[in-house]
Amino acid sequence: MRKKKCIMVIGDGLGDRPVELLQGKTPLEVAKKPVINMLSLNGMTGLVHPYKPGIRVGTDVGHLCIFGYEPEKVYSGRGPIEAFSAGIELKADDVAFRANFATVSEDLTVIDRRTGRIREGTRLLAESLNGIEIDDCKIFVKELTEHRAAVVIRGEGLSDMVTDTDPGTAHEGEKVKRPLPTENTLEAEKTARVLWKFLMRAHEILKIHPVNVERQKNGLFPANFIITRGAGKLKKIEKITDIFKVKAACIAGDETILGIGKMCGFDVFTSNKFTGSFDTDYKGKALMALQKINEGYDFVVVHVKATDLAGHDNIPFKKVEVIENIETIFSLLYSNIDRLNTYLCLTADHTTPCSVRDHTCDPVPVFIWGSDVRKDGIQEFGEEYIKSGSLSGYTAKDVFYTLMDFMGYTEKYGA
Ligand SMILES: [Zn+2]
Repeated sequence: MRKKKCIMVIGDGLGDRPVELLQGKTPLEVAKKPVINMLSLNGMTGLVHPYKPGIRVGTDVGHLCIFGYEPEKVYSGRGPIEAFSAGIELKADDVAFRANFATVSEDLTVIDRRTGRIREGTRLLAESLNGIEIDDCKIFVKELTEHRAAVVIRGEGLSDMVTDTDPGTAHEGEKVKRPLPTENTLEAEKTARVLWKFLMRAHEILKIHPVNVERQKNGLFPANFIITRGAGKLKKIEKITDIFKVKAACIAGDETILGIGKMCGFDVFTSNKFTGSFDTDYKGKALMALQKINEGYDFVVVHVKATDLAGHDNIPFKKVEVIENIETIFSLLYSNIDRLNTYLCLTADHTTPCSVRDHTCDPVPVFIWGSDVRKDGIQEFGEEYIKSGSLSGYTAKDVFYTLMDFMGYTEKYGA
């Protein structure tokens, strides 16, 4: 069977619910998107469950589902994904955390859990903590975008069953939480103990670090603490690119997505113009996707984060604008692909309704276009219009397997 190619665009948190400000329509229904409408008219559409009906998922789990996984088999918390993003090679017994540089007062009250989204100097701060030894463990720290970092504890007999030290956005002004074991084992107790000792040591080092001295001179909050959450151990994850023997690329600005992509076997590509925010270079992403197809990649994923941000911030008009930028991506893709041999797909990892400002379990809008796919004949792409589409009721994993089948990478079940 001749192999074909596919470019999938993921609008993070793309789905929405009717918005009063938009006369009861969703941002997707309101957005001007002639190319997307034409592609969905000539393709399959539907409302797809990211994981299972009724389960709302995070971006990490949503993407594992989009890439064909059953998350319960491979997901082990956000910590390991951040470690992947940071380029730390995890060993089987390591415990990884997602972390923030934060500002605390003398009595460890969290004044700012992101140190004003600090951008400069975090590499030096992380370096000053990287490699510290506590008891018989070694701790690795690597900076990520802005205030974010990955922390890994390496040693014997550790467990990821420990609580977060980050009090969370809603609890700024409260004290750093001391990590506690969530199971009654020596391993969990040890991990909580080592983590706390490390955080205290880090606090001593960060307090007097030249980067922080300089920040305080300039009237900025010092990044004088590390708060952690999402402890996890590595689970063995078979690369989807090995399972299907497909060469895949993931294009994104968001480091978490790049980390998940790496974990799943994608070659990942970014640019300093891909910001993971509203000001990302949409055209640049489309051009890079076309370039990767020309370089021999079979499956190329383009991730757009800003749809989700607009949902979390409840700015529906901004969400409309981001979707019109996604339209630009499809317009460029459609004009430049080999149409007989390339599929196009738009999907999302979850719904982030403006009215809720968080992820919900509403199924997400999806279309698959290709020269030989069945045509649902739906005139316009929008949550309300596509519910009777042929993909409705599918899961994200079903969509991934369907694409792999269109592309010629699946094995027959039976003889
Ligand atoms: Zn998401």
